Amino acid sequence: MTAMKWWGWGLDGVAFTHEDKPELRGFIREKIGLDIGQATAAPLGFDELAIPDAHLPDGLRAALAGAVGSEHLSVDPLDRVVHARGKSIRDLIRQRRGDLPRVPDAVVRPADEAQVTAVLQAALEADAVVIPFGGGTSISGSLEPEATETRPVLSVDMGRLDQVLEIDAASRLARVQAGVFGPHLEEQLNAQGYTFGHFPDSFTHSTLGGWIATRSSGMQSDRYGDIADMTRGLRVVTPSGTLVVRPVPSTSTGPSVREMILGSEGRLGLITEATVHVRPLPQRREILGYLFPTFDAGLAAMREIAASEASVSVSRVSDAPETQFSFATRKASTRMDKVQSKALTTFLQRAKGFDLGSMCLSFLGYEGSDGHVTEQRRIVGRIVGRHGGICIGTSPGQLYDQKKFDTPYIRDFLLDRGAAADVSETAAPWSQLEAVHRNTSAAANAAFAQLGVTGYLMCHLSHSYHAGACLYFTFAFVPSPGGDMLEEYDVVKQAIQQAFVDNGATLSHHHAVGTEHSQWLEEDISAPGVRLLEALFDGTDPGANLNPGKLV
Ligand code: FAD
Repeated sequence: MTAMKWWGWGLDGVAFTHEDKPELRGFIREKIGLDIGQATAAPLGFDELAIPDAHLPDGLRAALAGAVGSEHLSVDPLDRVVHARGKSIRDLIRQRRGDLPRVPDAVVRPADEAQVTAVLQAALEADAVVIPFGGGTSISGSLEPEATETRPVLSVDMGRLDQVLEIDAASRLARVQAGVFGPHLEEQLNAQGYTFGHFPDSFTHSTLGGWIATRSSGMQSDRYGDIADMTRGLRVVTPSGTLVVRPVPSTSTGPSVREMILGSEGRLGLITEATVHVRPLPQRREILGYLFPTFDAGLAAMREIAASEASVSVSRVSDAPETQFSFATRKASTRMDKVQSKALTTFLQRAKGFDLGSMCLSFLGYEGSDGHVTEQRRIVGRIVGRHGGICIGTSPGQLYDQKKFDTPYIRDFLLDRGAAADVSETAAPWSQLEAVHRNTSAAANAAFAQLGVTGYLMCHLSHSYHAGACLYFTFAFVPSPGGDMLEEYDVVKQAIQQAFVDNGATLSHHHAVGTEHSQWLEEDISAPGVRLLEALFDGTDPGANLNPGKLV
């Protein structure tokens, strides 16, 4: 897999553009006062960066080269900078500014579990820090070495462990190496008629091990489960040997060791392999678009769908600001599109009494046999109707499905134009969801007012569960004149995260804790909960060699 840009998302030469989206420029000008016509704020050039020298003691260098082969031990400056951080907005702003107080001293690329074990042993003997690296898409500061770290720091890139090793067809389980990237995993499974069904927005650049270590969730998790539901067996190289979790369907062997590894962010060891649920490729797959008169109506419909006999693969409803943003990113429409859109608008206003300013766009997905999909659509259609919604067919869903992996590029596009955009997501019980949405929106708007900036906040419900759902907020603003983007980002981010925990929601549904969210951990899991995690990490890794400073 080719490395991502050192300063941004995705591969060199691939970027977001507004030029094929005629309404977007006017929309952004109106909402945050930014003209996106021209890029005004390029990142520093790579040769302008002041990269700290690599400090790799000779003994450690020789041991690592012996473990993986010298061609898989790199002290190349670009390689080290690519592995220095993930892709949170804080990471992007600081990379673009050349703010590099500490980067890994070396990048090590083992090929199998024996090599991972040898790398960890060499690191422990030299008292070096080991940071496991999957795809580098962390959005919560889980990859950056501590600025004050004086020991050698190794980024252990797991990308060569990329094979599906075995499929147990009777159990629908696949044994897979942890460094495999999303597309390569699906390619190997699809060739044998299976899918994993885990599709985070970062799918193209993230790995199985990273998903497990951050408790990831994908856009079809309503059907397939979050990564925590889909991961059965594990192999993890730890300081005291290889930890093995057998791939049993369920067990009563005390507190779950499997769950301890899930979300461990490299603090407990290097995951080399997982045995995961797989399913046969579905016969039919559809994502339909729906419109609701208000967000509350959309939330109520999602709640009823979650409680019904329907089992959808995607349940998503945007609030009004996000709906307006989605419409503003439409590509140039044909004459026929315009006629249809006018007819729909007239129908919504006259026959359904919609206020177009409050209207909310929703996507619901269906997968399985023809009969199953038809039946699910029927059940869901009745529920949607009861909440005043209407189905608008497959075309918006197809568009959403096609452009979902392009969206991550928009943050670099806005940074190039001097604006910050980022996301915060949470989960809460159904009974608190409206309050979380209302109070988080109010907190973000108060933060924008405090800064004296015009900001834009939008939200969607992205996953539904028995007891509640995930709310995913996106915000954007242009910093105040003379203001520091990172400091102002912190004000908005603080307000949003604090609103989550104050309203009974979690600090993150699927982006993990890292360093970005660790200050809210105690409010989320209580002080004894934090002490439990500290004891777990200290007991497993007494020398604090494994990704120190993350989570707690
Ligand atoms: P990395 O970023 O490389 O590492 C993340 C953490 O896992 C680090 O602590 C690292 O040390 C540890 N780690 C990685 N591999 C291993 C291993 N083999 N053993 C032990 N520890 C390991 N997340 C979602 O869940 N859903 C989304 O839809 C989603 N969309 C995103 C969109 C964008 C634009 C971005 C920037 C991020 C998004 N994320 C999303 C967050 C991110 O993609 C996830 O956290 C992902 O699971 C990280 O995987 P990775 O392979 O990139 O891991």
